[in-house]
Amino acid sequence: MPPSVTVVSQTITETSSRPLFIVNHSKTSTKTDRAYDKSYKTLWGYFEHEIKWFNVFMLVILHLYTFYLYYTIHIGKIHLLVWGILMGSIGGFGVTGGAHRYFTHRCYKANLPLRILLMLAFTSAGQNSLFEWVRDHRVHHKFSETDADPHNSKRGFFFAHCGWLMMKKHPEVLRKGKTVDCSDLLEDPVVRFHLKYFIPLRIMLCFVLPTLIPMYFWGWSFTDCLDTTIGKWITLLNCTWSVNSAAHLWGARPYNNKICPVETKAVSFLAMGEGWHNYHHTFPWDYKASEFSYYFNVTTFWIDVFAKLGWAYDLKQPSRDLIEKIVKKSGDGSHFEWGHDVVSEEEGVEFLQTKQYDKRI
Ligand SMILES: [Zn+2]
Ligand SMILES: [Zn+2]
Repeated sequence: MPPSVTVVSQTITETSSRPLFIVNHSKTSTKTDRAYDKSYKTLWGYFEHEIKWFNVFMLVILHLYTFYLYYTIHIGKIHLLVWGILMGSIGGFGVTGGAHRYFTHRCYKANLPLRILLMLAFTSAGQNSLFEWVRDHRVHHKFSETDADPHNSKRGFFFAHCGWLMMKKHPEVLRKGKTVDCSDLLEDPVVRFHLKYFIPLRIMLCFVLPTLIPMYFWGWSFTDCLDTTIGKWITLLNCTWSVNSAAHLWGARPYNNKICPVETKAVSFLAMGEGWHNYHHTFPWDYKASEFSYYFNVTTFWIDVFAKLGWAYDLKQPSRDLIEKIVKKSGDGSHFEWGHDVVSEEEGVEFLQTKQYDKRI
C-alpha cells in the first residue's frame, strides 16, 4: 500500500497581527528580567544566569571521558563502535522521528505499535522526558531567538548547544512556556506510561540493556560495554544539540531570510536529517523536515518504511507551488532552483505573517 501523504497547497492570504519574523537583537537580559527574577546573578558580561553546578560537573566529566574513549579506541575494538552506532541510531530515530516529527510537530499519524516503538526508542536516547522535550521544542519554535527560547542562539554557540542545560531557565522561558499547549501529549496512554515510569525506563533502555546485551550474547567485557554505552549517550546528545546551535548559526537561508535557522549538511548527517533547519522552521509540519526526501535524511527513510507497513499515515508536506512562493518571497537567494528572485524585507515579512504559518508548531 502506498503511503498516504497530505499535500498542503493552500494559498496564503490571511494576515496575523503578530510579527513572527522580527529577530530580537536586544541584549538578552534586561533590568526588567532581573526585577522579575531576583535570583538572577551577573557572572560575566551580559551572560546572566544562575548556574546548575551539578549539571556542569556531570557534563564536563562525561565529555572528558568520552574524548578519552574516542582517543583510545583502536582497530581491535571496531565492534564496540558498530554497537555504539547501532544503539545511537535507534535512540536518534526516537528523537528525530519520534519526539520531534511525531510528538512535537504531529507531521504524521502513527498507530499504537509505532507510538510504543517511538517512545521506547526515544527513551533509549537518555534525554529529558518526552513531555519536557516536546514542551521545550514547541516553545523554541514559537519564540525562536528571543529570551523565551530555551536555547536562544542569540546567546552564542555554547549556550544554544549545551550551556542552556547548565543554568536556570530564563524567566521568559517559564512565563511564555506556560502559554504553549501540550495537553495533546497527556491524552496519549503511551506518553502517560512513559512519564509514569520515566526514570526506570530511561536507566534500563539507555544504560543497562545496551551494556548487558553484548556482554551476554558476545561475551564482551563489562568495561568495554559500559564505555560504549557512555560514548553512545554523550555523542547522541551532541548530535541533537548541534541542531539547536550550528543549525541556527552557520549556513544558508534559502526559504526564509528573516529567521536564524540555516541549512546545514553536516548537522543533517549527524542528526539523521534534522539539519535542514531553515526549511524546517518555515514548514515545521513537513514530515521530511526538508524539501528533499532522502538527501542526508535517514529519518525520512524510516518514516517512509513505517508508512509502507501502514504504521505511519497522513504524512504532511507542502506542495511544490507553496515552497516556490515562499522561496521567491522570503529566501536569501541561495535556493538551487528559485534562488534568483530576491524580495524586499517588508514583502517577505508581510507574506509570512499568515494564518498557515501561525499554526507552525
Ligand atoms: Zn530550531
Ligand atoms: Zn522542530
